[in-house]
Amino acid sequence: MVKQIVILGATGSVGQSTLEVLSLHPAEFKVLGLSAQSKMDELASLCSRFKPAFVALPNQAAAEKFSSALGFSVSKPTILLGEQGLCELAALSEATHIVAAIVGAAGLPSCLAAADAGKTILLANKEALVMAGTFFLDALRRGGATLLPLDSEHNALFQCLPRGQGEVDASVRSVWLTASGGPFLKHSASDLVGVTPAQACKHPKWAMGRKISVDSATLMNKGLEVIEAALMYGLTAERVKVVIHPQSTIHALVQYQDGSLLAHLSHPDMRVPISQALAYPDRISSGVIDLDMTTLGSLDFCAPDLDRFPCLRLAFEALASGQHACIALNAANEVAVEAFLEFGLPFTAIPQVVSNVVLISKTWRAPQNLKEVYALDVLARQIATTELTHFGVNK
Ligand code: NAD
Ligand code: MG
Repeated sequence: MVKQIVILGATGSVGQSTLEVLSLHPAEFKVLGLSAQSKMDELASLCSRFKPAFVALPNQAAAEKFSSALGFSVSKPTILLGEQGLCELAALSEATHIVAAIVGAAGLPSCLAAADAGKTILLANKEALVMAGTFFLDALRRGGATLLPLDSEHNALFQCLPRGQGEVDASVRSVWLTASGGPFLKHSASDLVGVTPAQACKHPKWAMGRKISVDSATLMNKGLEVIEAALMYGLTAERVKVVIHPQSTIHALVQYQDGSLLAHLSHPDMRVPISQALAYPDRISSGVIDLDMTTLGSLDFCAPDLDRFPCLRLAFEALASGQHACIALNAANEVAVEAFLEFGLPFTAIPQVVSNVVLISKTWRAPQNLKEVYALDVLARQIATTELTHFGVNK
């Protein structure tokens, strides 16, 4: 049966890598729908090439730009608008697989719509899971949906764990997530003060969107991934470990109680986990060349420095504190990263803003439902925006 694919966030880095893989296998996959928030020219050229039946766009102005960029075309897609349109796209009756590749909390409603509609969700959008936590998992169960991780580390765990999905049992002592260490691995604390957005977005191993690139530079990306792994596999903070591995060849490892340590290796290229998840339970070619063990050379590992990169420590603490702290951590980080990229917030202020908001969240009670999740997210963003003023940033 041909798999019918919807890509939420098609113009982004994960969206593009997904389309590259799909283009290798036209007989197995049909691109049913695409979404984008901006870059309407790019979306129009993707539509000319992949001919989706549906697109989701933010508003009428974007729809006009999109239509004029598409020009005359025999196969004009149906245009869905706004957040509701995105949710409709994620729940289309013909859709079998939803690639969740929107960045940030903005991706949560469409992920939940896909969960409610019982789709197979290929999740890159880690912020949605971190924010909604067990409410996301409940929605998956209720809707009869399947979650397949695209994040390379979680996809690697999926491949090293006996059952792939769901809570791990006592045979698994712990899991290891690897981190490249980002562009500032060797920077001293004082070197970090003046780093620029251009430097932060220049990742040594992965070509990614700007927000996740900054998160990789602060190690918040690894922090969000620790929470993501704990939720996906039912693990406490103590059973999720992080190791710096600059070559980014091993993506994750599973430590079993008998002393076996299983690792997943590949080139650092998102087409590998994307292909695994698209084809699951089969295998397809990804377009990525095989690793040559004879030329791999040495693989290095060391412990992360939580003093220079406090975001990772903050994420472990938030996971131990509960869902309200995870919401605060994620929302404050989104606000601080945007302020760093757009409004001159110093790089080293990112963890300070996040830390202050997480501290305030300690007085909150855990959310009882999704409505409270969204309310705490709004509150955390308001507090974070006020925190920015202490660093001279007025939005
Ligand atoms: P990106 O910035 O390159 O692309 C983001 C996509 O989301 C774009 O298509 C954009 O139009 C859309 N988008 C942005 N804001 C939106 C909004 N408010 N509403 C609707 N759509 C919106 O990001 P990316 O690097 O592709 O990352 C996407 C997600 O995947 C992130 O959650 C990231 O953490 C995760 N991820 C990325 C990689 C990677 O290699 N890039 C690896 C693992 C996980
Ligand atoms: Mg990752």
